[in-house]
This record gives sequence, structure tokens and C-alpha cells, in this order.
Amino acid sequence: MVPKVVFGEGCFNQLSSILSSQAKEKAPFIFLVDDVFEGNTEFIDRIKIRFNDKLIFISAAHEPRTSQVDALVKGIKSEFTTIPAGIIGIGGGTVMDLAKATAIMLTNKGSASDYQGWDLVKQKAVYHVGIPTISGTGAEVSRTTVLTGPVRKLGINSDFTPFDQVILDPELTKGVSKNQWFFTGMDCFIHCVESLNGTFLNAFSQSYGEKAYDLCMEIFLDDTLSEEESRAKLMMASWHGGMSIAYSQVGVAHAMSYGLGYVLGTKHGVGNCIVFQHLEEFYPKDVLLFKKMTLKHKIEIPQEICKNISETQMDTMIGVALGMVPLWENALGANWKSIITHEKLKELYLKM
Ligand code: NAD
Ligand code: ZN
Repeated sequence: MVPKVVFGEGCFNQLSSILSSQAKEKAPFIFLVDDVFEGNTEFIDRIKIRFNDKLIFISAAHEPRTSQVDALVKGIKSEFTTIPAGIIGIGGGTVMDLAKATAIMLTNKGSASDYQGWDLVKQKAVYHVGIPTISGTGAEVSRTTVLTGPVRKLGINSDFTPFDQVILDPELTKGVSKNQWFFTGMDCFIHCVESLNGTFLNAFSQSYGEKAYDLCMEIFLDDTLSEEESRAKLMMASWHGGMSIAYSQVGVAHAMSYGLGYVLGTKHGVGNCIVFQHLEEFYPKDVLLFKKMTLKHKIEIPQEICKNISETQMDTMIGVALGMVPLWENALGANWKSIITHEKLKELYLKM
């Protein structure tokens, strides 16, 4: 679990005092910042970069890759003679995952792709801080960093992955576009649905999952919340949703969305929405609610994205989805293979 967290509008201003307790002579802090903030001098000034620190703007146009992590680590090692005092990720799931992976790979040998899987990390990571600027993924609280590697899209799941410190300032999410707010917010809603309807459910994940689910109902279906309340509540829903899956698993939508992401580069949030709208047979009540939310907020979910894909692409997509064994076990139980076949997934993908 994340051992330290601060929350509240404006708490981003505590960053420099939080970091000062970790400062080491000559060791830099490396700030990975979503490039949506490039040119926003007022925001960048609040980071209070010291002479030896380094700020790297990161594009979130593509999901993080193991090769990108390797390149970041190589760059940092060649520029600085000492190991950094900390890695600070400021952005959405993309930047936060890159920050976690970079912190791990600064102290572990080889390529980030060597550690995709469960509990493969040997050495403690460099101190790392997560600061979300968009809410929903739960990446700020999870013990994984999802990376696309040469052969698979899979997280580095380990006890060294979670942030040492998280700063939850809802004000930072103010600039997010409506569509992106919805897609990333729905990632949270779908985390709750898949956790609460899964066979891995237990009292720990249920307590967090139910809270996050109720918050999503308020945020996406209730008209009485102010924008400020809605921002704060979505930040906490993201946190609780992440905590819920930390002790259970996601399900059908995520398994199939990974396939779309790997083959078509579809981003996580929108990919989950594309899949989820077709999952009535698995999550009937919640697919109806999802459609209600989509209509209410006038969001257009991309359609027919699999229409023109080749047979090879379809096979790869199905292969990636079928490879997500724990997700299927959680969603459908030990006998999931009797329900989910190559043909069944093809039929579903062709609807998308
Ligand atoms: P993202 O980080 O990809 O960002 C989406 C868009 O929002 C980008 O264009 C970004 O520039 C923009 N943005 C971010 N903050 C903004 C702000 N304040 N104002 C304006 N624009 C802003 O989106 P995401 O949905 O948060 O993250 C998706 C990634 O998270 C995927 O790579 C996925 O694999 C990963 N993920 C990780 C976990 C985990 O537990 N580690 C869980 C779920 C998803
Ligand atoms: Zn997700």
C-alpha cells in the first residue's frame, strides 16, 4: 500500500516541503510531467525545481512502453553520476506508470521487459511520488505499472511498485476535456463492476469497491454536485477503485481492452468503454447504467474499430485477451474456458 498521502485542493503546494525530507546532496529529483502542462509557467513554477533537478515532459499520446522506460533510465544514468533522490510523476496513468517503472529500473538490472509479470523485481526502487492530474485509473495507488513490451502488454506487479508518497490535489484535474474525463472516469467505474462481480471478491475489495461504485453513481448520474465536489469525489473514487482491484482482479472488459490496446493502440480508458458497451451478458445491470451515463453526458463511444482488421490482427487480439488468465478466472470462475473461446471473442470483437 502507499504509505503516505496528502489530499485537498491546493495541496500540490506541499510538494517541495515533502521532497525536502528526501533531499540528498547532489542527487537530483527527476520530474516526469505530462506535456499538456508544457508552457504553463504558473504550474511549472509551483514545482520549485532546484538547480540540479531535471524536468522531462512526457507525451501521453501513447501508452508507456518498456523501451521508453529503458531509454529514460539510460538518459538519467548518463547525465547524472549519482542515483536520483526521487522520481516524481505528474500526470495521468501514463505518466504515473512511467514514473513507477523508471524508479524501479534505476535500481534493477536489465530491461523493464524482464520484470513484466508478478514479483520479479529484486531491488527496492528509488523513492517515487505520484501526483494525478486526471482521475480514474487508480494508478496512483496500485502495485502495478502497465507497460507494452516487445511480446506482451503486462504490468510490473511488485511490492516495490507502489508510490512512496501520493499527492491528491483535485484542482489539478480542472483542465481535463469532457471526453477524457468520461473515459478515464469510466475506467474507475469498470474497475468497481469487475471487482464486485468477480469470483475473487472478498471483504477487503468489496468495501473499497462499493464505496467507489457509489461515488461513480453520484458523479456520473447526479446533477446536484458542484464541479468542485465532483472533482474531489472522482479523485477518491479512483483511489478506492484501485484499492478494490488491488485485492481482487479486473474482468472481461479489461481482458478484451488489452487486446485492442496491443493490436490497435487503443488507449485504456476509451478501449474499456468500447468493450463494455457490448458486455450485457456478463454485466447486465451495469452495462445499462453505463449506457445511461454515456447518453447523459453526450459521449460518443467509437464504433466499428474492428471492422477492417486483418485475420492476423484478429488472432493476435484474441491471443492477447485469452492470455489474461487471472482476469477470466476472476470474471467467470475456474471453468471460464467453457464460456470464452476463440470464436466467442471473435464474435464480440466484431461487434466493436
Ligand atoms: P493518460 O495519462 O493517458 O492521459 C489522457 C489524456 O489526458 C492525455 O492527453 C493527457 O495529456 C491528458 N491530461 C492529463 N491530465 C490533464 C489535465 N489536468 N488537463 C488536461 N489534460 C490532461 O490517461 P489515463 O486514463 O489517466 O491513463 C491511461 C494509462 O493508465 C494507460 O497507459 C493504462 O494502461 C494505465 N493504467 C494503469 C493502471 C495501474 O494500476 N497502473 C490502471 C489503469 C490504467
Ligand atoms: Zn483499468
